[in-house]
Amino acid sequence: MKLTALMVLIFMCIVAQAQNTRLEILHGKTILLFTPHPDDDVFGAGGTIALLNRNQNKIYIVIYTNDDKGSYDPAMTSQRLAEIRKHEEEVSEGLIGTPKENITWLGYDDGMLEYASQPKLVEEATAIIRRIRPDVLLSVDPGEWYERWHKTDHRMAAFNTIDAVRAAEFWLYFPNQRLQQGLQPYKVPEMYFFYPSPQEANYFVNIDDVAELKFDAAAKQVSQFEPAVNKYRPDWEPADLAKAKSEMRSEQPRKDGHYVEAFRYATGFVQY
Ligand SMILES: [Zn+2]
Repeated sequence: MKLTALMVLIFMCIVAQAQNTRLEILHGKTILLFTPHPDDDVFGAGGTIALLNRNQNKIYIVIYTNDDKGSYDPAMTSQRLAEIRKHEEEVSEGLIGTPKENITWLGYDDGMLEYASQPKLVEEATAIIRRIRPDVLLSVDPGEWYERWHKTDHRMAAFNTIDAVRAAEFWLYFPNQRLQQGLQPYKVPEMYFFYPSPQEANYFVNIDDVAELKFDAAAKQVSQFEPAVNKYRPDWEPADLAKAKSEMRSEQPRKDGHYVEAFRYATGFVQY
């Protein structure tokens, strides 16, 4: 038993060493985040993004869809909703330190990512990875059951991003990117997936210092919440805002009495 315990301890040390510096204390690195919709980045990882920006990392956000369907307002149009969501996202990310110049919009229609041309989708994401060459990549995880089975864009964004991570390291995938655009192959060293299933979450970032900032940033996505999701208005009644933020506080996961964001950490895949 003692020998087994020792072996487990040695194995755990090896695993711990395999992981580089903790995400929340990285400094001066390049971070690339893929998100299905222009709010999942803030809802799922906004506190972590705030900490990374505070630590002078360079963060790039790639948004697969324009989120142009999720409104109950009968007077809303898809074009207008896409414009509203773009503006809200820029304000929201701006509050946690990401300049809008660092946000890339792929422009797919809300709910339609699974029906987009898959070779084109993975080629686009591969080119972005090869161009940005991130030290760390963040992406949505198919994750919890409702993500896995009921959120088509989340599922597709998760699978497409990881397929692009694989393609990016072998130049024979989309060789025109190297031959015509000068994009060299690139192997992503570390990945963190937000919206993991609770059983698979293996990494937690303490966001106590930036939790209120995260809730403020999330609240900038006015059209995602009642009452604006039912009848659009660009601002909040103070009482509605207070209620929404109170719900965010109670719903934010906690661990050992601290606000946390949960991730599934992954590195060192054998890709071939
Ligand atoms: Zn979403």
